[in-house]
Amino acid sequence: MSKITICPICENRPTAAEFKPFCSKRCADVDLQKWLSDGYAIPGRPLDDAEEAPSRPTDSGFDD
Ligand SMILES: [Zn+2]
Repeated sequence: MSKITICPICENRPTAAEFKPFCSKRCADVDLQKWLSDGYAIPGRPLDDAEEAPSRPTDSGFDD
């Protein structure tokens, strides 16, 4: 197992065993942030929906 893997984030430094498959905690955090921001960047509800149904009662008890 002497194969050297380059960190996919900075593509500059070899992977560190401690932070596989990244080279450092910094790059591991960058990757995590990418995942999180991707998830939050795509809201489940379109803005149009909020404008077309502004008076939706909140006591219906239905949450799909
Ligand atoms: Zn890196």
